Amino acid sequence: MVFTDDTDAALQTTVLLTNSTDEPGQPLGTVEDLSAFLAEWAYTGRHDATPEELDAVRGLRPRLRELLLADRDGAAAIVNEMLAEARALPQLQRHHHWDWHLHAVDPDRPLDERVVVETAMAMVDVIRADEMGRLDTCAADDCDDVVLDLSRNRSRRYCSTTCGNREAVAAYRARQRS
Ligand SMILES: [Zn+2]
Ligand SMILES: [Zn+2]
Repeated sequence: MVFTDDTDAALQTTVLLTNSTDEPGQPLGTVEDLSAFLAEWAYTGRHDATPEELDAVRGLRPRLRELLLADRDGAAAIVNEMLAEARALPQLQRHHHWDWHLHAVDPDRPLDERVVVETAMAMVDVIRADEMGRLDTCAADDCDDVVLDLSRNRSRRYCSTTCGNREAVAAYRARQRS
């Protein structure tokens, strides 16, 4: 565990949303996909399960990506902006299997607003711990996705095992050729 459990989970969900496409089966593929994703990650609060809500969350991807990949000072500025925009009000909450942890907006606010605030709050921990190095882009040549490295030895370089395996095969072929 690098951060607290709830921060780790918030970072993981944000990275999954940021890297997702609109294809069915992806977290933001269909309204049902989003519902399943929220249930899987024990995401609390309002969920309209409408196409409008799905679109609003899809629309967050560029901004989330910008935050996740910013340098530390840049990330601090974006977090402050996000929290101010949402008029964040820190509050302890307890839901699902999560013990008391920090939320910063009421559970009845629209999902896209809460995703932004949840991400901003998780990034507060990353910035304070000076751990921005945990976030990077995938090391695979043809992939630009965000990698979140929560490993103890900071060894994670690829966004997914698919990318890791593809790169391993490519490296093997290159060795064979030479
Ligand atoms: Zn929570
Ligand atoms: Zn990748």
